[in-house]
Amino acid sequence: MAGEPQADCLFCKIVAGDVPATVVRETDTTVAFRDINPQAPTHVLVIPKAHYPDAASLATGAPQLAADVLREAGRVAEEEKIAAADGGPGTGYRVVFNTGAGAGQTVFHAHAHVLGGRGLEWPPG
Ligand code: IMP
Repeated sequence: MAGEPQADCLFCKIVAGDVPATVVRETDTTVAFRDINPQAPTHVLVIPKAHYPDAASLATGAPQLAADVLREAGRVAEEEKIAAADGGPGTGYRVVFNTGAGAGQTVFHAHAHVLGGRGLEWPPG
């Protein structure tokens, strides 16, 4: 059923506490933790506790939860002092939802990458 934990899902295991993670924020519905292979000085993943395979299925199946994830991404950025409003060099951040293996998605539990702390080029690779 949509949203139910999946036994073979790494991020469901992090939610359950069965796999350790460096958690930076947690709410009733979301967890934010540092990426194990950071691509920028700040690289935090924000996930819904409920299992949805990608951002689109999350937004369709649980729109308020998708909004929670986006709100938490912004709060992470503020706490990490990379929010655009800070205005200094290297501020501003990127929120990325890789969707599908061809776009680099490797964990099929919806997650927002929050990346910042360095200049970010456009277009992305
Ligand atoms: P994706 O490639 O967009 O699916 O992102 C998955 C992310 O999860 C990658 O950036 C990985 O480095 C990260 N990752 C994989 N395993 C772990 C873990 O155990 N803890 C934290 N991050 C992880």
